[in-house]
Amino acid sequence: MSTVAYGSGAVAPGPDAQGLVDLRSDTVTRPTPAMAAAMAAAALGDDVFGDDPTVNRLQARLAEVLGFEDALFMPSGTASNLCALLTHCGRGDEYLVGQMAHTYRYEGGGAAVLGGIQPQPLPQQADGSLALADIAGAIKPDDMHFARSRLLCLENTWNGNVLPLDYLREATALARSRGLACHLDGARLFNAAVATAGPGGDPYATARAIAGHFDSVSVCFSKGLGAPVGSVLCGSRAFIAQARRARKMTGGGMRQVGSLAAAALHALEHHVHRLADDHALARRLAEGLAGLDGLAVTAPQTNIVFAQLQGAAAGRGAELLAHLQRQGVLATGLIGLRFVTHLDVDTAGIDRAVAAVREFLAA
Ligand SMILES: *Cc1c(COP(=O)(O)O)cnc(C)c1O
Repeated sequence: MSTVAYGSGAVAPGPDAQGLVDLRSDTVTRPTPAMAAAMAAAALGDDVFGDDPTVNRLQARLAEVLGFEDALFMPSGTASNLCALLTHCGRGDEYLVGQMAHTYRYEGGGAAVLGGIQPQPLPQQADGSLALADIAGAIKPDDMHFARSRLLCLENTWNGNVLPLDYLREATALARSRGLACHLDGARLFNAAVATAGPGGDPYATARAIAGHFDSVSVCFSKGLGAPVGSVLCGSRAFIAQARRARKMTGGGMRQVGSLAAAALHALEHHVHRLADDHALARRLAEGLAGLDGLAVTAPQTNIVFAQLQGAAAGRGAELLAHLQRQGVLATGLIGLRFVTHLDVDTAGIDRAVAAVREFLAA
């Protein structure tokens, strides 16, 4: 197995280099050689003391890009959302959230387990939005019978879908008019920004416009941005000071972590515009799959392609995934077939994935 240089050691090359097309998630990427060099060169300090200059640069840079006073480096998106919820809400408070949103469904119920925070899940529309009437109807009056409604939590992108700016403005204005704060799980905020800005648009300015509707925003660097680890939570200075306590309490205070912050900084500078390439690969995959009998494909807005087996092929998802794996193509089948593009796949890999699905359906 070949390797690329990384400091004094080595990291394994991306999946393509091993002959694998790994479309399970955009979390699977390896550092590019340029990112690895930035990681190896990072100046370090003890971040629990606030001494790590690279972490401080990352936090200041993302806060500046998104228009917040302050930011905090986090070990994961789950930790980032959890610390945001622990900071916005106390015991007996509730947050309004989508029934299929990551914070509610895929984070172990941490806000309830660790914070005594009651989730108020709401049905999501096909695009991932929460209907304004549902939000309005779920906010409780100030009455001892009810949990205190404190926070609206939205997610953009959700399952690869982009929430329109107009919707974000209306939903957050409604929440604010009833005294709620607003948090954005922006794990894939920059995918949303690139798609919203369109070709020739400025994804940084668009990310700032999206983030501007929220009191706090969490961004993952370990997804499409291609860093190995890390998220950043943004908010006001007072909010981040309190979130720092929550991070320490939940075990997320990290020490000489600047090499990971360096990867995120590199991604923030060099991997935002290129998310458009991932979106183009997702369209190429969807177009390839859409021509096949037995498969219903949802046209992707960003880097995630969903497909459902139909007709004679319905119910054969596990078989298809096993077939793909034998062909060196990895995907997931938790909520329909899901394929995610990222910087370690290329057109040849996408075409191999399409060919492998075609072969299965033709057999
Ligand atoms: C990945 C993801 C997270 C956080 O996941 P971690 O694996 O904890 O980093 C949060 N929200 C969304 C929408 C995600 O896709």
